[in-house]
Amino acid sequence: MEASKPRIGVFFCDCGGTVEGLIDFDELEMHAGSLEDVEHVERDRFMCSSDAASRMSQLAKAHDLDRLVIGACSPRVYEEEFKRAAELAGINPYMLEIANLREQVAWVHSSDREGATAKAKDALTMAVARSRRMEPQTRPPGAYVIDERCSGCGICLSTCRHDAIEMKVDPWTGKRVATVDPISCLACGACVAACPSGAMDMVGFSNEEMTAEIDTFTEGLLDSKEPFPAILVFACNWCSYPAADLAGLKRMQMEPKFHIIRTPCSARVDPEWVLRALSNGVDGVLVLGGKDGQCHYEGGNVRTRDRMMLLTKLLRQIGFDPQRFAIDWVNPDEAATFRDIVNAFIERVERLGPNPLRAPSEEERPTSALFHGRDDYVHPPYRR
Ligand code: SF4
Ligand code: SF4
Repeated sequence: MEASKPRIGVFFCDCGGTVEGLIDFDELEMHAGSLEDVEHVERDRFMCSSDAASRMSQLAKAHDLDRLVIGACSPRVYEEEFKRAAELAGINPYMLEIANLREQVAWVHSSDREGATAKAKDALTMAVARSRRMEPQTRPPGAYVIDERCSGCGICLSTCRHDAIEMKVDPWTGKRVATVDPISCLACGACVAACPSGAMDMVGFSNEEMTAEIDTFTEGLLDSKEPFPAILVFACNWCSYPAADLAGLKRMQMEPKFHIIRTPCSARVDPEWVLRALSNGVDGVLVLGGKDGQCHYEGGNVRTRDRMMLLTKLLRQIGFDPQRFAIDWVNPDEAATFRDIVNAFIERVERLGPNPLRAPSEEERPTSALFHGRDDYVHPPYRR
Protein backbone atom coordinates (compact mmCIF):
# COMPACT_ATOMS: atom_id res chain seq x y z
CA MET A 1 0.00 0.00 0.00
CA GLU A 2 1.30 3.42 -0.91
CA ALA A 3 2.23 5.55 2.11
CA SER A 4 0.05 8.61 2.51
CA LYS A 5 1.65 11.98 1.86
CA PRO A 6 2.75 13.98 4.89
CA ARG A 7 0.44 16.82 5.92
CA ILE A 8 2.56 19.43 7.67
CA GLY A 9 1.37 22.43 9.66
CA VAL A 10 3.86 25.26 10.18
CA PHE A 11 3.24 27.50 13.19
CA PHE A 12 5.30 30.62 13.83
CA CYS A 13 5.61 32.46 17.10
CA ASP A 14 6.81 36.04 17.39
CA CYS A 15 7.38 35.58 21.12
CA GLY A 16 5.13 38.44 22.17
CA GLY A 17 6.82 40.78 19.73
CA THR A 18 10.39 40.17 20.92
CA VAL A 19 11.42 38.93 17.49
CA GLU A 20 9.03 41.14 15.53
CA GLY A 21 10.91 43.30 13.08
CA LEU A 22 14.09 41.23 13.37
CA ILE A 23 12.89 38.72 10.77
CA ASP A 24 10.51 39.41 7.88
CA PHE A 25 7.68 37.13 8.97
CA ASP A 26 5.54 37.90 5.91
CA GLU A 27 8.32 36.60 3.68
CA LEU A 28 8.83 33.64 5.98
CA GLU A 29 5.14 32.73 5.91
CA MET A 30 5.11 32.86 2.10
CA HIS A 31 8.20 30.69 2.01
CA ALA A 32 6.68 28.15 4.41
CA GLY A 33 3.55 27.91 2.27
CA SER A 34 5.66 27.11 -0.78
CA LEU A 35 7.40 24.10 0.80
CA GLU A 36 6.44 20.59 -0.20
CA ASP A 37 3.74 18.92 1.92
CA VAL A 38 3.01 22.05 3.94
CA GLU A 39 -0.78 22.21 4.24
CA HIS A 40 -1.25 25.05 6.67
CA VAL A 41 0.73 28.06 7.94
CA GLU A 42 -0.22 30.11 10.98
CA ARG A 43 1.37 32.86 13.07
CA ASP A 44 0.71 33.40 16.78
CA ARG A 45 1.98 35.71 19.48
CA PHE A 46 2.66 33.29 22.32
CA MET A 47 2.79 29.70 21.05
CA CYS A 48 3.72 28.58 24.56
CA SER A 49 0.39 29.76 26.03
CA SER A 50 -2.39 27.25 26.67
CA ASP A 51 -4.73 29.25 24.41
CA ALA A 52 -2.29 29.01 21.50
CA ALA A 53 -1.78 25.30 22.15
CA SER A 54 -5.49 24.63 21.98
CA ARG A 55 -5.82 26.83 18.85
CA MET A 56 -3.00 24.86 17.25
CA SER A 57 -4.65 21.58 18.11
CA GLN A 58 -8.00 22.73 16.65
CA LEU A 59 -6.30 23.86 13.44
CA ALA A 60 -4.35 20.61 13.22
CA LYS A 61 -7.60 18.66 13.41
CA ALA A 62 -9.39 20.98 10.98
CA HIS A 63 -6.62 20.61 8.39
CA ASP A 64 -6.04 16.93 9.09
CA LEU A 65 -2.36 17.56 9.85
CA ASP A 66 -0.15 14.63 10.79
CA ARG A 67 2.99 16.55 11.77
CA LEU A 68 3.94 19.98 13.07
CA VAL A 69 6.83 22.35 12.50
CA ILE A 70 7.09 25.19 14.96
CA GLY A 71 9.26 28.23 14.27
CA ALA A 72 9.80 29.73 17.69
CA CYS A 73 12.26 29.81 20.59
CA SER A 74 14.92 27.20 21.26
CA PRO A 75 13.64 23.59 21.39
CA ARG A 76 15.33 23.46 24.79
CA VAL A 77 12.70 25.85 26.15
CA TYR A 78 9.27 24.46 25.24
CA GLU A 79 9.77 21.21 23.36
CA GLU A 80 7.89 19.15 25.95
CA GLU A 81 4.95 21.60 25.99
CA PHE A 82 4.77 21.55 22.18
CA LYS A 83 4.81 17.75 22.24
CA ARG A 84 1.85 17.78 24.60
CA ALA A 85 0.05 20.19 22.25
CA ALA A 86 0.70 17.77 19.39
CA GLU A 87 -0.80 14.94 21.44
CA LEU A 88 -3.82 17.10 22.14
CA ALA A 89 -4.30 17.29 18.38
CA GLY A 90 -4.02 13.51 18.07
CA ILE A 91 -0.55 13.79 16.52
CA ASN A 92 2.25 11.48 17.63
CA PRO A 93 4.59 13.66 19.76
CA TYR A 94 7.61 12.55 17.74
CA MET A 95 6.08 14.15 14.63
CA LEU A 96 7.15 17.57 15.84
CA GLU A 97 10.11 19.64 14.77
CA ILE A 98 11.15 23.02 16.12
CA ALA A 99 13.14 25.58 14.14
CA ASN A 100 15.02 27.76 16.60
CA LEU A 101 14.21 31.16 15.09
CA ARG A 102 14.54 33.24 18.24
CA GLU A 103 17.85 32.64 20.04
CA GLN A 104 19.82 31.26 17.09
CA VAL A 105 18.49 33.49 14.30
CA ALA A 106 16.56 36.63 15.27
CA TRP A 107 18.50 37.57 18.39
CA VAL A 108 22.02 36.59 17.39
CA HIS A 109 21.65 38.32 14.00
CA SER A 110 19.40 41.20 15.10
CA SER A 111 21.54 43.80 13.33
CA ASP A 112 21.08 42.08 9.95
CA ARG A 113 17.35 41.66 9.18
CA GLU A 114 17.96 40.51 5.63
CA GLY A 115 20.57 37.93 6.66
CA ALA A 116 18.40 36.76 9.54
CA THR A 117 15.38 36.33 7.26
CA ALA A 118 17.42 34.31 4.75
CA LYS A 119 18.78 32.14 7.56
CA ALA A 120 15.29 31.71 9.04
CA LYS A 121 14.06 30.50 5.64
CA ASP A 122 16.89 27.96 5.47
CA ALA A 123 16.23 26.81 9.04
CA LEU A 124 12.57 26.35 8.23
CA THR A 125 13.29 24.48 5.00
CA MET A 126 15.58 22.13 6.95
CA ALA A 127 12.95 21.63 9.65
CA VAL A 128 10.25 20.81 7.09
CA ALA A 129 12.59 18.40 5.26
CA ARG A 130 13.30 16.66 8.55
CA SER A 131 9.61 16.58 9.43
CA ARG A 132 8.82 14.89 6.10
CA ARG A 133 11.11 11.99 7.09
CA MET A 134 9.62 11.52 10.55
CA GLU A 135 7.77 8.37 11.54
CA PRO A 136 5.30 8.05 14.39
CA GLN A 137 7.05 6.31 17.30
CA THR A 138 5.84 4.22 20.17
CA ARG A 139 9.30 3.43 21.52
CA PRO A 140 10.89 5.73 24.12
CA PRO A 141 13.72 8.03 22.93
CA GLY A 142 16.92 6.04 22.48
CA ALA A 143 18.84 3.62 20.31
CA TYR A 144 17.60 0.37 18.79
CA VAL A 145 19.05 -2.36 16.61
CA ILE A 146 17.78 -3.46 13.21
CA ASP A 147 18.45 -7.17 13.77
CA GLU A 148 18.75 -8.26 10.16
CA ARG A 149 21.58 -5.78 9.52
CA CYS A 150 23.55 -6.55 12.69
CA SER A 151 26.79 -8.44 12.05
CA GLY A 152 27.37 -9.14 15.74
CA CYS A 153 30.67 -7.21 15.76
CA GLY A 154 30.07 -5.80 19.26
CA ILE A 155 31.41 -2.32 18.48
CA CYS A 156 28.25 -0.78 19.93
CA LEU A 157 28.77 -2.76 23.12
CA SER A 158 32.24 -1.32 23.66
CA THR A 159 31.04 2.17 22.69
CA CYS A 160 28.21 2.42 25.21
CA ARG A 161 29.38 3.79 28.54
CA HIS A 162 26.05 3.09 30.19
CA ASP A 163 25.84 -0.71 30.01
CA ALA A 164 22.72 -0.42 27.89
CA ILE A 165 23.79 -2.93 25.22
CA GLU A 166 23.95 -6.68 25.39
CA MET A 167 24.94 -9.24 22.79
CA LYS A 168 22.43 -12.05 22.46
CA VAL A 169 22.67 -15.26 20.50
CA ASP A 170 19.67 -16.18 18.39
CA PRO A 171 18.80 -19.74 19.48
CA TRP A 172 17.59 -20.65 15.97
CA THR A 173 20.39 -19.28 13.82
CA GLY A 174 23.23 -19.03 16.36
CA LYS A 175 23.81 -15.47 15.13
CA ARG A 176 25.08 -12.85 17.61
CA VAL A 177 22.87 -9.78 17.66
CA ALA A 178 23.09 -6.63 19.77
CA THR A 179 20.09 -5.50 21.81
CA VAL A 180 19.53 -2.22 23.60
CA ASP A 181 17.93 -2.04 27.02
CA PRO A 182 15.56 0.94 26.68
CA ILE A 183 15.60 1.54 30.45
CA SER A 184 19.38 1.94 30.65
CA CYS A 185 19.77 3.75 27.33
CA LEU A 186 20.31 7.49 27.83
CA ALA A 187 19.79 8.26 24.13
CA CYS A 188 23.21 9.79 23.49
CA GLY A 189 23.47 8.18 20.04
CA ALA A 190 27.18 7.28 20.35
CA CYS A 191 26.53 3.65 19.42
CA VAL A 192 24.41 4.61 16.40
CA ALA A 193 27.27 6.68 15.00
CA ALA A 194 29.75 3.88 15.74
CA CYS A 195 27.91 0.95 14.16
CA PRO A 196 29.75 0.07 10.94
CA SER A 197 26.81 -1.85 9.48
CA GLY A 198 24.08 0.76 9.65
CA ALA A 199 22.30 -1.64 11.98
CA MET A 200 21.46 0.96 14.59
CA ASP A 201 19.12 3.87 14.58
CA MET A 202 17.43 5.95 17.22
CA VAL A 203 14.15 7.53 18.12
CA GLY A 204 14.47 11.29 18.14
CA PHE A 205 17.60 11.93 16.09
CA SER A 206 17.21 9.23 13.46
CA ASN A 207 19.63 8.70 10.59
CA GLU A 208 16.96 9.66 8.06
CA GLU A 209 16.05 12.87 9.85
CA MET A 210 19.64 13.98 10.32
CA THR A 211 20.69 13.28 6.74
CA ALA A 212 17.55 15.07 5.50
CA GLU A 213 18.74 18.18 7.32
CA ILE A 214 22.26 17.90 5.94
CA ASP A 215 21.09 17.28 2.37
CA THR A 216 18.63 20.15 2.51
CA PHE A 217 21.25 22.57 3.80
CA THR A 218 23.71 21.51 1.11
CA GLU A 219 21.28 21.38 -1.80
CA GLY A 220 22.59 23.29 -4.81
CA LEU A 221 25.99 24.11 -3.27
CA LEU A 222 27.90 22.03 -5.83
CA ASP A 223 26.49 24.11 -8.67
CA SER A 224 27.54 27.49 -7.38
CA LYS A 225 30.26 29.19 -5.38
CA GLU A 226 27.59 31.33 -3.67
CA PRO A 227 26.61 31.63 -0.87
CA PHE A 228 30.09 31.52 0.59
CA PRO A 229 31.04 30.40 3.13
CA ALA A 230 28.45 27.67 3.77
CA ILE A 231 29.29 26.34 7.19
CA LEU A 232 27.59 23.58 9.13
CA VAL A 233 27.94 23.33 12.90
CA PHE A 234 26.91 20.22 14.82
CA ALA A 235 26.14 21.26 18.39
CA CYS A 236 25.23 18.99 21.28
CA ASN A 237 22.00 19.52 23.18
CA TRP A 238 23.56 19.88 26.63
CA CYS A 239 26.68 22.00 26.13
CA SER A 240 27.38 23.76 22.85
CA TYR A 241 23.75 24.20 21.73
CA PRO A 242 22.80 26.00 24.98
CA ALA A 243 25.94 28.12 24.58
CA ALA A 244 24.66 29.14 21.13
CA ASP A 245 21.26 29.93 22.68
CA LEU A 246 22.96 32.01 25.33
CA ALA A 247 24.84 33.96 22.67
CA GLY A 248 21.43 34.87 21.22
CA LEU A 249 19.97 35.63 24.62
CA LYS A 250 22.85 38.04 25.28
CA ARG A 251 22.33 39.55 21.81
CA MET A 252 25.93 38.86 20.84
CA GLN A 253 26.08 39.69 17.16
CA MET A 254 27.40 37.13 14.68
CA GLU A 255 27.29 36.98 10.91
CA PRO A 256 24.64 34.55 9.62
CA LYS A 257 27.18 32.43 7.75
CA PHE A 258 26.65 29.19 9.66
CA HIS A 259 23.83 26.76 10.41
CA ILE A 260 23.52 24.68 13.52
CA ILE A 261 22.22 21.12 13.56
CA ARG A 262 21.39 19.93 17.07
CA THR A 263 22.50 16.48 18.21
CA PRO A 264 21.90 14.83 21.59
CA CYS A 265 25.66 14.41 22.21
CA SER A 266 28.67 15.26 20.06
CA ALA A 267 29.25 11.48 19.94
CA ARG A 268 26.04 11.19 17.87
CA VAL A 269 27.88 12.92 15.00
CA ASP A 270 28.56 10.23 12.46
CA PRO A 271 31.83 10.84 10.55
CA GLU A 272 29.82 9.96 7.46
CA TRP A 273 27.76 13.12 8.00
CA VAL A 274 30.92 15.24 7.84
CA LEU A 275 31.99 13.49 4.63
CA ARG A 276 28.49 13.81 3.23
CA ALA A 277 28.33 17.54 3.96
CA LEU A 278 31.77 18.21 2.47
CA SER A 279 31.15 16.11 -0.60
CA ASN A 280 27.82 17.95 -1.04
CA GLY A 281 29.77 21.22 -1.23
CA VAL A 282 29.79 22.63 2.30
CA ASP A 283 32.86 24.83 2.81
CA GLY A 284 33.47 23.84 6.41
CA VAL A 285 32.11 21.59 9.16
CA LEU A 286 32.53 22.30 12.86
CA VAL A 287 31.64 19.81 15.60
CA LEU A 288 31.13 21.33 19.05
CA GLY A 289 30.87 19.24 22.19
CA GLY A 290 31.14 19.91 25.91
CA LYS A 291 34.46 20.23 27.74
CA ASP A 292 35.93 17.36 29.72
CA GLY A 293 33.99 16.62 32.86
CA GLN A 294 30.96 18.47 31.52
CA CYS A 295 29.53 15.94 29.05
CA HIS A 296 25.96 15.07 30.05
CA TYR A 297 26.64 11.48 28.97
CA GLU A 298 29.89 11.19 30.92
CA GLY A 299 32.56 10.84 28.32
CA GLY A 300 30.60 11.09 25.07
CA ASN A 301 33.03 13.87 24.16
CA VAL A 302 35.96 11.44 24.59
CA ARG A 303 34.37 9.15 21.99
CA THR A 304 33.91 12.15 19.72
CA ARG A 305 37.53 13.22 20.06
CA ASP A 306 38.89 9.75 19.21
CA ARG A 307 36.59 9.35 16.25
CA MET A 308 37.16 12.80 14.82
CA MET A 309 40.97 12.47 15.04
CA LEU A 310 40.65 9.51 12.70
CA LEU A 311 38.31 11.45 10.47
CA THR A 312 40.86 14.24 10.13
CA LYS A 313 43.40 11.72 8.82
CA LEU A 314 40.83 10.27 6.44
CA LEU A 315 39.97 13.71 5.07
CA ARG A 316 43.60 14.29 4.20
CA GLN A 317 43.82 10.91 2.48
CA ILE A 318 40.80 11.48 0.28
CA GLY A 319 41.92 14.90 -0.80
CA PHE A 320 40.02 17.32 1.44
CA ASP A 321 41.98 19.97 3.26
CA PRO A 322 41.45 18.88 6.89
CA GLN A 323 41.28 22.54 7.86
CA ARG A 324 37.76 22.51 6.49
CA PHE A 325 36.84 20.45 9.50
CA ALA A 326 37.28 21.28 13.18
CA ILE A 327 36.20 19.99 16.54
CA ASP A 328 36.09 22.12 19.66
CA TRP A 329 34.62 22.27 23.15
CA VAL A 330 32.22 24.72 24.74
CA ASN A 331 30.35 24.61 28.01
CA PRO A 332 26.72 25.72 28.21
CA ASP A 333 27.50 29.00 29.99
CA GLU A 334 30.25 29.99 27.54
CA ALA A 335 28.42 32.10 25.00
CA ALA A 336 31.49 34.21 24.21
CA THR A 337 33.59 31.07 23.69
CA PHE A 338 30.96 29.75 21.29
CA ARG A 339 30.99 33.03 19.37
CA ASP A 340 34.78 33.20 19.23
CA ILE A 341 35.22 29.58 18.08
CA VAL A 342 32.60 29.91 15.34
CA ASN A 343 33.97 33.28 14.17
CA ALA A 344 37.53 31.92 14.08
CA PHE A 345 36.38 28.90 12.07
CA ILE A 346 34.48 31.11 9.62
CA GLU A 347 37.60 33.23 9.13
CA ARG A 348 39.71 30.13 8.55
CA VAL A 349 37.29 28.81 5.92
CA GLU A 350 37.09 32.20 4.25
CA ARG A 351 40.87 32.17 3.91
CA LEU A 352 40.71 28.67 2.37
CA GLY A 353 38.13 29.76 -0.20
CA PRO A 354 35.17 27.74 -1.48
CA ASN A 355 35.12 23.95 -1.28
CA PRO A 356 36.98 22.85 -4.45
CA LEU A 357 34.03 20.64 -5.38
CA ARG A 358 31.84 23.70 -5.84
CA ALA A 359 31.38 24.66 -9.49
CA PRO A 360 35.00 23.95 -10.40
CA SER A 361 36.55 24.97 -13.67
CA GLU A 362 38.34 22.14 -15.52
CA GLU A 363 41.68 23.15 -13.95
CA GLU A 364 40.17 23.28 -10.47
CA ARG A 365 38.64 19.81 -10.62
CA PRO A 366 39.95 17.67 -7.77
CA THR A 367 41.85 14.61 -8.79
CA SER A 368 41.79 12.58 -5.58
CA ALA A 369 40.95 8.90 -5.68
CA LEU A 370 37.50 9.40 -4.20
CA PHE A 371 36.38 12.44 -6.11
CA HIS A 372 37.31 11.92 -9.73
CA GLY A 373 35.18 14.93 -10.44
CA ARG A 374 31.86 15.77 -8.93
CA ASP A 375 29.90 14.48 -11.97
CA ASP A 376 31.24 10.99 -11.32
CA TYR A 377 30.55 10.97 -7.63
CA VAL A 378 27.25 9.48 -6.51
CA HIS A 379 26.34 9.20 -2.83
CA PRO A 380 25.71 5.70 -1.69
CA PRO A 381 22.20 5.49 -0.28
CA TYR A 382 22.38 6.05 3.47
CA ARG A 383 23.79 2.73 4.67
CA ARG A 384 21.00 0.61 3.26
S1 SF4 B 1 27.90 -2.23 16.13
FE1 SF4 B 1 26.15 -2.60 14.77
S2 SF4 B 1 26.65 -4.46 13.66
FE2 SF4 B 1 28.05 -4.38 15.43
S3 SF4 B 1 26.95 -5.51 17.04
FE3 SF4 B 1 26.35 -3.38 17.32
S4 SF4 B 1 24.46 -3.19 16.10
FE4 SF4 B 1 25.44 -5.07 15.46
S1 SF4 C 1 22.36 5.63 22.74
FE1 SF4 C 1 24.05 5.93 24.20
S2 SF4 C 1 23.26 5.12 26.14
FE2 SF4 C 1 21.92 4.35 24.52
S3 SF4 C 1 22.75 2.34 23.98
FE3 SF4 C 1 23.68 3.83 22.59
S4 SF4 C 1 25.62 4.44 23.55
FE4 SF4 C 1 24.35 3.43 25.14
